[in-house]
Amino acid sequence: MSRVCNKKPSVCTDEPLSNDEICHRLAVMLHVLSSCYGPRGRLKQIHNNVGGNFHSTSTSSVLIRAVTFSDPLLKLIAAAISDHTARFSDCGLFTGVFCLGLIENARRLGLRSAVATRVYKYLLNECNRYLSADDCGCKVQVDFSSVRSLVTLAHTVVTSKPACMLDSDESQHIASLTVQAFLQSVPSASSNVFGKTLVVAVEGQPVRDSAVFPGLLVEVPILQSVDLNRSPGPYKIVLFSTSLSGDCSEIGEAALEIQVGINPEMVVLEQLLKLGERVVHDGVEVFACQKVIHPVLQQYLKERGLVVIERLGLALMEPIAQMTGALIMASICSPVPAKAYGQIRGLHLHRIGSKEHLQLLPFGEAAVNTMVLCHRNETMLEELKVTCQRAEHVLRLTLKEPYALIGGGCTETVLSGYIKYTVENKVSEAASALKCSHTEFLLATEAFCCSLQSVALSLAHKDQHFLKDLTHAHCWVTEKDAHSQTTAMHLCSCGLVKERADLEKIFFNIPLNTAHLSFLPAPIKPDVQPRLLDSFTAKLNALNVAAETANLVLDARIFLLGAPDCTTGGLKTGD
Ligand SMILES: [Zn+2]
Repeated sequence: MSRVCNKKPSVCTDEPLSNDEICHRLAVMLHVLSSCYGPRGRLKQIHNNVGGNFHSTSTSSVLIRAVTFSDPLLKLIAAAISDHTARFSDCGLFTGVFCLGLIENARRLGLRSAVATRVYKYLLNECNRYLSADDCGCKVQVDFSSVRSLVTLAHTVVTSKPACMLDSDESQHIASLTVQAFLQSVPSASSNVFGKTLVVAVEGQPVRDSAVFPGLLVEVPILQSVDLNRSPGPYKIVLFSTSLSGDCSEIGEAALEIQVGINPEMVVLEQLLKLGERVVHDGVEVFACQKVIHPVLQQYLKERGLVVIERLGLALMEPIAQMTGALIMASICSPVPAKAYGQIRGLHLHRIGSKEHLQLLPFGEAAVNTMVLCHRNETMLEELKVTCQRAEHVLRLTLKEPYALIGGGCTETVLSGYIKYTVENKVSEAASALKCSHTEFLLATEAFCCSLQSVALSLAHKDQHFLKDLTHAHCWVTEKDAHSQTTAMHLCSCGLVKERADLEKIFFNIPLNTAHLSFLPAPIKPDVQPRLLDSFTAKLNALNVAAETANLVLDARIFLLGAPDCTTGGLKTGD
């Protein structure tokens, strides 16, 4: 019996941003994302409606993947954030908070959307120009001769994810391991293939047991102890992707023609043993297979001193092939060609928690390593795994552009200060080029700068107050009473500016406006390293994605939400 659904008419929404319901949803999304932002962000509990485990996170990519958005505008913003994090790993929350801030502030200040989009585009170009300039006050060069700035970059990513539940020593340990894994995966001058870092997650062990191992770690059954008393390496390895279980049912769709009196299982086993004989003859010492190996073949190989590894799984095949130089054998019928054998430098056995892992050491210059991450429970371990992979990606981005941006909200306040001061000095020229009045141009600039500052403000939570100094436009955090400036602050948020008597500061929490702040942020001659650094490449892209997405949303005129047989809604934009 087929189900009959009445076809509903399509829903057409005119001027979506004048719809209170839609604006409320945008405000809720802004609140959810901004409340996750930074080291003191509030965690979100995710639990799907068909049961399953609770998951705690403040990571934008995990959050957005878990939430279903019904509104086309929200879907558009969520897709922009997901696409950004898929490519750059970091600054997903920044993208969302800045984008939604631009939309909300344009509405709050009553700007015509056509004007807002034109001015936002102009200001975005000014930001890109400033951030790309050599004298940009928010940018520092990543010094590859020392690991300090790399560790700071990784540490900023790790500490910005409170769901990892790390204390300060643990954060430092994880940041150092991430840098170690990154450095080990950088290829040598003679090789142009970037290495791989595989992650092995171990639940129930303390975080300090986490470590990085060169080569690959493969879990082996604890009862089948591996005999490693052998001559020093290198060892020859053979790698199979096909099942060696001898089970005829795994042949697939092919038809088998069997003569009377012949047992197909025995024939396959004979074939497997011939293969075993061949590899033993060829001097192979490690026999590895993605799937199951027949127990008789395993016994045969072990008796002849070979290390047998089965059930490797698909994920490990490529890295092992890359590391050893072995060709992946997909058949047992042909003899193994000499060029299919790979090499490993050595083997070690490690006991991690209750599991035993065999370490395959790389031969030659293959930059493959394994990061063992330990944590107390599954949900923290999952967040830690995502965080470390993202931190390593952020480090890789520095190879493309060796810069970092100062963190802790200072980049946002400096950039906002710079943009406000610079464009106010060319209002007439810019307003006439953008075909708007002076007032409109200044209001749109106000909306843009407020949105930047509100990203910095999202770092503040409950008992904190943010200040901005009126010399360098850096961000300062105090945990005391909002009307008292007596709290001792020795450094600004990013750690570049030191406290001194002549540094005047203002609160910028409430009210959120920048009207009285128009000055060119003075350059700093730092004698210290910033203690917080963000990825330059990721944040620059996030800034662009956020402003472009906000412009697209502000430009949306009509929604066409399809009937049930028309699965996707449409969006029409234009003046
Ligand atoms: Zn600072």
